Amino acid sequence: MQKLHFFILLFFLLFKTGWAQRPLQPNAAEIYHQIQKLNFLGSVLYVAAHPDDENTRLISYFSNYTNARTGYLSLTRGDGGQNLIGPEMRELLGVIRTQELIEARKIDGGEQFFTRANDFGFSKNPEETFQIWDKNEILSDVVWTIRKFQPDIIINRFDHRTPGTTHGHHTASALLSVEAFDKAMDDTAFPSQLKYVSVWKPKRLFFNPSWFFFGSKEKFEKADKSGYSQLQIGTFYPSSGKSNQEIAALSRSKHQSQGFGSTGARGEEYEYLELLKGESLKEKNAVFEGIDTSWNRLEGGEAIGKILYQAEQDFDFKNPSSIVPDLIKAYELIQKLKDNHWKTIKSEELKNIIAACTGLYLEAVSDKQEITPESLMNVKWEAINRSTVPIKLNGLLTNPESTIDFKPVDLKSNISNTSNFEMKIPEDFEYTNAYWLNEANENGMYCVNDQQKTGLPDIIRKIAVTFNIEINGVNIPFTRNIVYKYNDDVKGEVYQPLDVVPLVTAAIAEKVYTFNNNDDRGINVEVIAGKDNIKGSIKLEVPYNWKVSPNEIPFSIEKKGQDFSAVFKVAPSEEISESLIKAKVTIDSQTYDKDKTDINYPHIYKQMVLKPATAKAIHFKIKTKNERIAYIKGAGDEMPKCLQQMGYFVEIINPEQISTKKLMGFDVIITGIRAYNVVNALAFKQDILLDLVKKGKTMIVQYNTLDDLVTKKIAPYPIKISRDRVTEEQAEVRFLNPKHKVMNYPNKITTEDFKGWKQEQGLYYPNEWDANFTPILSANDKGESPKNGALLVAKYGKGHYIYTGLSFFRELPEGVPGAYRLLANMIAIGN
Ligand SMILES: [Zn+2]
Repeated sequence: MQKLHFFILLFFLLFKTGWAQRPLQPNAAEIYHQIQKLNFLGSVLYVAAHPDDENTRLISYFSNYTNARTGYLSLTRGDGGQNLIGPEMRELLGVIRTQELIEARKIDGGEQFFTRANDFGFSKNPEETFQIWDKNEILSDVVWTIRKFQPDIIINRFDHRTPGTTHGHHTASALLSVEAFDKAMDDTAFPSQLKYVSVWKPKRLFFNPSWFFFGSKEKFEKADKSGYSQLQIGTFYPSSGKSNQEIAALSRSKHQSQGFGSTGARGEEYEYLELLKGESLKEKNAVFEGIDTSWNRLEGGEAIGKILYQAEQDFDFKNPSSIVPDLIKAYELIQKLKDNHWKTIKSEELKNIIAACTGLYLEAVSDKQEITPESLMNVKWEAINRSTVPIKLNGLLTNPESTIDFKPVDLKSNISNTSNFEMKIPEDFEYTNAYWLNEANENGMYCVNDQQKTGLPDIIRKIAVTFNIEINGVNIPFTRNIVYKYNDDVKGEVYQPLDVVPLVTAAIAEKVYTFNNNDDRGINVEVIAGKDNIKGSIKLEVPYNWKVSPNEIPFSIEKKGQDFSAVFKVAPSEEISESLIKAKVTIDSQTYDKDKTDINYPHIYKQMVLKPATAKAIHFKIKTKNERIAYIKGAGDEMPKCLQQMGYFVEIINPEQISTKKLMGFDVIITGIRAYNVVNALAFKQDILLDLVKKGKTMIVQYNTLDDLVTKKIAPYPIKISRDRVTEEQAEVRFLNPKHKVMNYPNKITTEDFKGWKQEQGLYYPNEWDANFTPILSANDKGESPKNGALLVAKYGKGHYIYTGLSFFRELPEGVPGAYRLLANMIAIGN
């Protein structure tokens, strides 16, 4: 029990990311930089709302030039955005963006934090944001991060004084940061946190203005910036051969799901900071003024500084291990520090430097990437000292505990020591999962019940080996997560995290099932084995007045990873209803109800997400005519699947397939969201498409943003896309043309159909259009003028052209009946 305790303590204290997978092997220049950072005792926390809000030039500057501990607190994980690289949306997109931020920080040298706030989508001002976020709870998370990270300086990306000029989350992040600056030092604020952390008083709070607050780069050039601190951030680092901006660009380019590939610059450039709170500056650009960032900052620090400043001076790029005796002396002194905060941080930094200087390579590798509770894995460990410094390996401790046949061993210079042991994962061991997704989230916030987990960026991995190392007679424990690695014929050595998975997982084929009448339909459930030789039965739970048959289906699977496909017939209740269908697998009277999603992209580590194995089932009255639909994909959405659900024949048409001959066989052409932003070929194919409309086809174009349109001729008649949107999903919808066919055939649309919409009504509505267009709907957010461009219908030749900014791409996967009914009418308009 004591052992377990030791590990958990360690995991919560060491929130630095990056050591869970491929071992770091810094070169001499990198080690030297780590020593410079070791000798700087100051911290900066950058605060904003989303992945991509952070100014990587400034983060890199503070981390690599100033050598400060530099953190980025992103209030959200960016779950509400669109995904440019794959189908993941919502929480799964949040998982991808989390990893992108972690990878970005590995490049710019920062650390990453989050709050529990969920990125629920766009809001126009902070009041709207705080209607959905529990302000006090998110404030408590910002205070927690400040108390835990103890920044000397806090920098806001956004201006707290200009609500309504940017995304409401942005202004909210600044408002919360301003409030937290004072609350962090107030022991009456969030006192339950003080069990784990102390109050903290940051020295200064800044705002980091940028040209976009001034309207244009030219206006910013001309603006009076004499009141600001000015930092020349165009440093060139010979140790890495890169300019600060080049490092910042590499970091920013990690945001692949947002398409933020970025090109670095070279040469002098400036960043500006406006002091908002805290001690005024005598020397305006010395933002750390009055903060002792040397070892003298700490009681007992002077003696440590004496050793470590000398070690920095004595560093020998040809033989980094020559300073190890001094580093060991410093390590011992650091263990005696009273200040637990710096003791933990500097111990860990110094341990990494000692390992790097001695070429000490410690690793523990499992023979499996996935393991189920109660099963065995073989772990191969390796320890090698690639210096002449005397090092002993005195013991191995593991979590979970296992018995290892081990004798202390001298790690002789450049002689490899490897061995194996078996480890059993206990029955009650927690499955690997993003900790913030373990509980169902409430609107606007992830549910995290453990204060100490709050804000941690990554999955908490607890399966580890601690190598008890003795260097120069001093015991230093080094903990390494057990990882999985294999050799790929093309990529070479591939590292993956070790995941604890359920014995069996189940996946219902679709997220939403729509029932247009009382007929039953087949629902496919795939059971996937997490282990060899499993036997059991699968059930589908439906609401009490729905019917399912058979009651259960037995299965047996021989090999881990293999699946078994079960088909149930489900019939809806007589009345209109919507509900959840749940898949439940029983093996030896144990129930398993998780669905496992793997996320695999080359720029991040493999991710596994466990969610309840459920699907939404909706019984509604919807009429469709059997139209054939050609779908041209945009920036990724699940609409084609939903259309198939509705009973349409749907074919995905690649841009190069667009031709009159190919499309003549269809009734309706639909373009995916932002197709005219991301599909370049549409610039050349647009005439063909519009000509097809003229000949009698229906074309439905979903929202595009106004920047980077591939063609100006997006519609047969002039239309002007704007930034108009209706973010209040419950905003009243008024019918401008209630008699129009699209409102009546084959489904009679009423205000009922606009109830239960999720996240927003729509976005990037046109605000000007030709007289040939008929506007159908009008709505607006509180306090705004009516927005009438949500749905525009035009007759063109013998056909119909429809432009819509309504968020069908969100509503259909969420199973919103009204969205289905309206879409069915749009599809049927030429019928
Ligand atoms: Zn943002």
